[in-house]
Amino acid sequence: MVPCKISLLLASVFLLPISLPAQQPSSAPKAKPKPRVIMVGVNGMELDIIRPLLLKGQMPNLSRVIEKGAYGKLRTVSGPNCPRVYTTLFTSTNPDEHGVTGFIVGGITANTHMLKEEPIWSMLSKGDVTVGMANVPATFPVMPVNGYMISGMLTRGKNCEDGVLCAPKLSEVTGGDAVYPAKMREELLKNVGDFYIDCERMPSAGDLKQHEGEVIDRWLAKVQTIRDQQTKLFDYLLVSHPTDFTFLAQSCEDRTGHWLYPITPFNVGYNASVNSVRQSAFPDQYIAFDKVLGTILKHVDDNTYVVVVSDHGIKPLREFEEKDPHAHADHEKTTPVIAKHDFADGDDVPGSVFVMGPGVKHGFRIMGLAASVYDIAPTLLHIYGIEQPKQMRGRVLSEVFEGTENKVAENK
Ligand SMILES: [Zn+2]
Repeated sequence: MVPCKISLLLASVFLLPISLPAQQPSSAPKAKPKPRVIMVGVNGMELDIIRPLLLKGQMPNLSRVIEKGAYGKLRTVSGPNCPRVYTTLFTSTNPDEHGVTGFIVGGITANTHMLKEEPIWSMLSKGDVTVGMANVPATFPVMPVNGYMISGMLTRGKNCEDGVLCAPKLSEVTGGDAVYPAKMREELLKNVGDFYIDCERMPSAGDLKQHEGEVIDRWLAKVQTIRDQQTKLFDYLLVSHPTDFTFLAQSCEDRTGHWLYPITPFNVGYNASVNSVRQSAFPDQYIAFDKVLGTILKHVDDNTYVVVVSDHGIKPLREFEEKDPHAHADHEKTTPVIAKHDFADGDDVPGSVFVMGPGVKHGFRIMGLAASVYDIAPTLLHIYGIEQPKQMRGRVLSEVFEGTENKVAENK
């Protein structure tokens, strides 16, 4: 059971009354419009897989963001996994400080009641920035914002009682609210349909045995159905509920990489009966993601920043870890995985960041690991002119904006 008392306490701490912006007298000079930010989270985006696709012209939308903006690797935390890193991204504090140290914390599936630090959506809401979020990991149960929030990975529901790496439909959610404000749930069911929240659970070795091709194809088809539903949801939200800050996330790419990473046959864990069936499955996920990005980019104007961010990369199994290197501890040790990301050294699997928008340098590359997941929240606050609170460990990624020297890029 989730401790409700704590949630009430946090709600009161994080949600001070939201004041409306003061009315401007009609004679006042026209104020600069508030910037819009559309942030797209991609779980486990792996640059080793993406770069060849960019070269081949198979990710034209991400190419456009790179050309018109800045990009680079994003240093992540140790033992990175989605809830652990996303919550660091929300708060710019480390996992021990913010409390969401992994999928399971103290025997309970990670949830927003565990948050011990103020998340970015609360700070922006208090700063009169309207906030819209959908499918972002570790946001269940949803919290009140100055806008809307639809939960993502770790949402619990029918056939997904523990909420870990499975996909309840919106109508099947149990154990908390998946939509804020609650009245928006009916509207979504009516206009978008009963969409899956998060991606599909991976098949087990038992499911796969002697039915590999069939199981893989069925799983990939379900993944595409989920992605189509999420694309429809994102498009609907951007049209019908535009907000200053919008944060949308995808998680099927990472899920595919774990068991269908395409390096063969030298991978540790390589199993020809599984891993030779659909070698393009994982790269295909990014090609499909690029189409989702294309839908989102249709809603971008000159006043909009686009931030594509990944919490970590994903690499083939390759070194001894304390845990069984052949099983992904977070995926219940039933799927025959060939790649993972929760290596003790997070620098083995950096995430990535791609930024485009007003005043952002064009074609700028952040070298090395100068940018980190801690820097995203301070940079967002900077865009909205909100002062960075003391507890935040990151910095504003000032090198990506015009008018700053390329110190980091030059790697001095
Ligand atoms: Zn993963």
